[in-house]
Amino acid sequence: MTAYDFGPKHPLRPERLERTVTLLSRLAPGIEVVDPGLATRKDVLRVHTSEFIEVVAMASSGMRVPHGLLAECGFVNSDNPPFPGMYEAALAYCGGAVRAAEVVRDGAGLAFSMAGGLHHARRGQASGFCVFNDCALACSVLRERFGRIAYVDIDLHHGDGVQWIFWDDPTVLTASIHESGHYLYPGTGFVEEHGDHYSHVNVPLDPHSTGDTWLWAFERGILAALEKFRPEAIVLQMGADPHFLDPLGHLDVSAQEWLEAVRRIRSLGLPIVALGGGGYEMTTVPRMWVSAVLTLMGMDYPNEVPDDLAQAWNMPVMADPELPEPRWRCRERTSAVLDQLRESVLARVGS
Ligand SMILES: [Zn+2]
Repeated sequence: MTAYDFGPKHPLRPERLERTVTLLSRLAPGIEVVDPGLATRKDVLRVHTSEFIEVVAMASSGMRVPHGLLAECGFVNSDNPPFPGMYEAALAYCGGAVRAAEVVRDGAGLAFSMAGGLHHARRGQASGFCVFNDCALACSVLRERFGRIAYVDIDLHHGDGVQWIFWDDPTVLTASIHESGHYLYPGTGFVEEHGDHYSHVNVPLDPHSTGDTWLWAFERGILAALEKFRPEAIVLQMGADPHFLDPLGHLDVSAQEWLEAVRRIRSLGLPIVALGGGGYEMTTVPRMWVSAVLTLMGMDYPNEVPDDLAQAWNMPVMADPELPEPRWRCRERTSAVLDQLRESVLARVGS
């Protein structure tokens, strides 16, 4: 999974996985980390075209792929530069999501795969650092047992790939809260994108919305949709990039406000497959993900990070000591978005 690396100048750093596993093993030494192995081509075919998978494998092995085809598949840009071994590395993070979804399909209440959450990939195109869409794979596996799945996405960015893959499928609700596409990649995720079955719920927020506004919108938008849709299981994408220190976006959410959304999802009492996602700030991502894992497991943990790690990573505590001021930033604008969502989408979700 750590071989999924677009190079030293790319913002998606494999170190965030290493730090997360290190911190988790220190705070909860009893947790067993399982090697899920690689996903198979057959697994990936659940949500991707065979032509696209072929191009990923060819580009990964160093075979010459016509420039036009490479561009069509999303690989001619600085977001997704092909690298040797890309196919196997993508199969590795997909293997984590598939295995996690399989154990939940087979009766477990909770499983994690922190390496994935790569929600931008389309059926036939890589996008936004994402080659294969492991979130969609997890939903597809869960559908073998559960009639209705909710995909909940708390990443800074809109979960567009999952939305498009399940666009016409009324059995998979996608619910995403994110910085507005007017300001940020991928430029989508507006309230109007609900689909014919009203099975897509989007809560776009203005830049510099604070975490209290974010959490308020999460309750009134995402949780309200779940209440109406009544899913039997949840795939939770836990992108850590809404954090106020994250370099890629402009939301001002604290670690503890973000964690409160995770806690609310847990309190629904449904089977959960939890995935990682975005997050580009090395002093925030590991502590947010470890907090989320332990919270979903119902385990207590200290606020202090062990001394040696705290010093080496400049990350003394798990929660943010200070919240961005002023609070309730962008609440009025968000209130208008929620009114629109309630009237035009939530009224029809699950009907
Ligand atoms: Zn993101």
